[in-house]
Amino acid sequence: MSELLDVIVIGAGPAGYPAAIRAAQNKLKVACIDEWKNTDGSYAFGGTCLNAGCIPSKALLESSELYQRAKEEFAAHGIKLGSIGFDVAQMQKRRASIVKTMTGGITALFKSNGVTGIQGHGRLLPGNEVRVTAPDGTETSLRAKEVILASGSTPVRLGVVPHDGKLIVDSWNALEFDAVPRRLGVIGAGVIGLELGSVWRRLGSEVTMLEAMPDLLPMADQTIVKEAQRHFKKLGLDIKLGAKVLRAAVKGSGVEVAYADGAGEHTLEVDKLVVAVGRRPFTQDLLAEGTGVELDARGFIEVDEHCRTTAAHVWAIGDAVRGPMLAHKGKEEGIMVADLIAGRYGEVNYKVIPSVIYTAPEIAWVGQTEEQVKASGRPYKVGAFPFAASGRARAMEMAQGMAKVIAAKDDDEVLGVHVIGPMAGELIAEAVLAMEYSASTEDIQRTIHAHPTLSEAIHEAALSADKRAIDAINR
Ligand code: FAD
Ligand code: NAD
Repeated sequence: MSELLDVIVIGAGPAGYPAAIRAAQNKLKVACIDEWKNTDGSYAFGGTCLNAGCIPSKALLESSELYQRAKEEFAAHGIKLGSIGFDVAQMQKRRASIVKTMTGGITALFKSNGVTGIQGHGRLLPGNEVRVTAPDGTETSLRAKEVILASGSTPVRLGVVPHDGKLIVDSWNALEFDAVPRRLGVIGAGVIGLELGSVWRRLGSEVTMLEAMPDLLPMADQTIVKEAQRHFKKLGLDIKLGAKVLRAAVKGSGVEVAYADGAGEHTLEVDKLVVAVGRRPFTQDLLAEGTGVELDARGFIEVDEHCRTTAAHVWAIGDAVRGPMLAHKGKEEGIMVADLIAGRYGEVNYKVIPSVIYTAPEIAWVGQTEEQVKASGRPYKVGAFPFAASGRARAMEMAQGMAKVIAAKDDDEVLGVHVIGPMAGELIAEAVLAMEYSASTEDIQRTIHAHPTLSEAIHEAALSADKRAIDAINR
């Protein structure tokens, strides 16, 4: 039998690799096993997020937004560029290079923290033994006092839409297109659909999105969604709500999609079709018989609020367990578990997890939406501030959107903050910190915000909740 480790982590995505690093920082002997293989055949740590999710999508969002801004906004700044073009191959080269640097960074972090990183497939056997199958098929066995499962998620597939990996694809393929499709279809107008739809639309694709639900982004505050819809329309995203996809098939060099909505049946012809209808937990070949680890009805590994599974000394974190499928949620769970294993304090505040959609303008929020607060019956007040009144946003030629603060009427506690506007994803950090400390709007009102900055929008929205905004009319 092999040497007994303190901790084995299966999966080195944004949940697993921080768990391994924190466990090592806690002076535990750790191995982290990951099987991720890129489309060029290389193995890399970082999971979906670094290789095929958060990072490559943001690289392409940035490139395509800069192109769009150069085309549409630079003239207003008095900048003359002559003709503006783009090079998809260079954009993709840059995307790949960022991913390589970031995933290589994990290897370096493992080394410096003393984590043993192992490329291969891990399978948990009873007794906390982990069978590792290396890429060349060699099998070895490891054992640990504690095992952390961080196997992540995989895209949901629709039975009526058979993927071929070339014309009918998932988000990973859509991040690696080597040319701009003239007509792009996207099934699902969720976070991935909107981000990837934005990338390719900005570069010239005619984008049609088929969304099954009657409402766009039902999890977001609806005032913000209404504002977002105006921007999506202006960009040229054709979002068809309440569209039920009946079937799709490759036809010649394109794809034919049949869908139905309130007006009847329709056919959509596109050059490429991206399916982005959500993700599901990935646990294939992860658990041998008799481990005692149970899955719930939707395939998530069952855990308690501290990420303990139904088996003693086995934990599970990230997309493979309940809760939002977000990198930062997985990271905090990883840190919590590694600290609990070491006998330290660990907790995740599931009520204060920020969400960001990296469209232009960005959408970000934390806490409850106005719809949720209203439904709770708790009396509330709302403050809002438009970026049109922000000097910094004006100077940036990005004076779009608003910040909205929702607070309890009785004790002034901030219940939710919602932003659509420039750098919303960065601005929301202040609201997250405020809510983590159970701040009131008065706390934000009395906090000095530098001028002129975008952050003043949060300050003014908090003031506006008491009809005391200075730089906007109080309503
Ligand atoms: P993963 O990142 O999926 O990592 C799991 C790892 O475990 C993988 O490397 C997998 O190969 C490995 N593995 C699985 N089973 C085994 C096994 N048996 N043995 C060995 N290895 C195994 N989230 C955000 O917060 N912000 C964003 O901007 C964002 N953008 C996204 C964009 C796209 C296009 C996509 C698809 C997702 C995005 N997400 C984003 C979601 C984010 O990627 C996930 O929430 C996050 O990656 C989950 O982390 P994880 O570690 O749980 O799982
Ligand atoms: P999602 O849940 O955000 O959106 C899926 C959309 O597809 C929903 O609007 C849903 O109603 C729709 N849909 C489902 N079945 C359909 C069907 N048959 N026909 C038409 N529409 C259908 O999921 P996603 O966009 O695939 O993203 C997956 C996960 O990755 C999400 O949980 C998200 O949190 C995460 N992610 C996060 C970010 C970010 O934080 N910026 C970016 C990308 C992905």
